[in-house]
Amino acid sequence: MFEDIFEFVRTQFRHADFIPLHEPRFAGNEKNYLNDCIDSTYVSSIGEYVNLFELAVAEFTGSQHAIAVVNGTQGLFVALKAIGIDAGCDVLTQSLTFVATANAIHYSGASPVFIDVDSKNLGLSPKALKLFLQKHTELHNDRCVNKISGRKIAACLPMHTCGHPCRIKEIAELCTENHIELIEDAAESLGSFYSNKHTGSFGKVGVLSFNGNKVITTGGGGMLITDDEELANKMRHLTTTAKVPHQWEFIHDQIGYNFRMPNLNAALGLAQIEQLASFLEKKRQLAERYREFLTAIQITFIDEPPKCKSNFWLNTILMPNEKQKTVFLEQANQQGIGARSLWHPMHLLAMYKHCQRDTQSNAEDIYRRGINLPSSVNG
Ligand SMILES: *Cc1c(COP(=O)(O)O)cnc(C)c1O
Repeated sequence: MFEDIFEFVRTQFRHADFIPLHEPRFAGNEKNYLNDCIDSTYVSSIGEYVNLFELAVAEFTGSQHAIAVVNGTQGLFVALKAIGIDAGCDVLTQSLTFVATANAIHYSGASPVFIDVDSKNLGLSPKALKLFLQKHTELHNDRCVNKISGRKIAACLPMHTCGHPCRIKEIAELCTENHIELIEDAAESLGSFYSNKHTGSFGKVGVLSFNGNKVITTGGGGMLITDDEELANKMRHLTTTAKVPHQWEFIHDQIGYNFRMPNLNAALGLAQIEQLASFLEKKRQLAERYREFLTAIQITFIDEPPKCKSNFWLNTILMPNEKQKTVFLEQANQQGIGARSLWHPMHLLAMYKHCQRDTQSNAEDIYRRGINLPSSVNG
């Protein structure tokens, strides 16, 4: 019964035998820069490509500082650590996200508290956030205290799901009013803007990912973006083993981490970001074709939110019910079409099911009905 959709998907990609959900594309200077990097012998955590890639990301996102790290997950952890999140804290986030968001909160020692998502853009809902804050928190001397856990709600970590900006301005305002730090999981949203401002640049820190399935890749990698110089220095220090600069001595002034992106990965990243504009254009065109085809056959297509520019990392549709989602995924994958479910919501996973949360009715509904369709840069 989904045959016409499968046929449409096949026409969008060159190789119709197996169509992955999202594959990288290397059509620029990748091999030149990698060769250059190898010839230079600077293949590890010191090298010009790391600096150049950081500058390119800072410029593209309009951020004052960019710090390259080994991956997005550790980037999230370092961001939380650098703003002082610890075991005495709660961090508000969404349950409908990739597990890295919740894991990073756990690594910091804090407890995640799950707030429902918006049914239109799939990101953290400011309406649900406001309701939660009114119902379960009190301000004590500029500290937002969770009346249930007794802990300080120190940060809020929304995610721009599948590259669609969430209602980040309203979320930022609620955070400011309630003395909560805002960190954005912008792992999926490089190239996505809310009111012409890049996602990840609304709070203290934004975290990008360059995993192999993201809009651009460094193999593995991530980037911390911020306008706060002091925080930038702190994060750079933490991610480079907290080594005090010295020509020959090895002195470290705290327990740091070896999280700096290697120069080899950054060389790939620089070549990739040079192609970002063309990738985004092609992804937008693919999304337009999906939108036109799917809405004509009455299938709900998650679209670019108002006032926003999505990168259309993954194209998401909602089936009428869970049964149809399962049948669709079974049949698609049998035919080599790498359609995927959205993530199992965190509050339904064994590790996080004890965590505090609100109703999660949108997260559960989207999980039950949501499918991501193959979305690679094609043509
Ligand atoms: C990809 C991703 C990350 C980070 O993943 P890494 O593979 O560690 O770079 C974090 N959060 C979300 C929502 C992601 O999709």
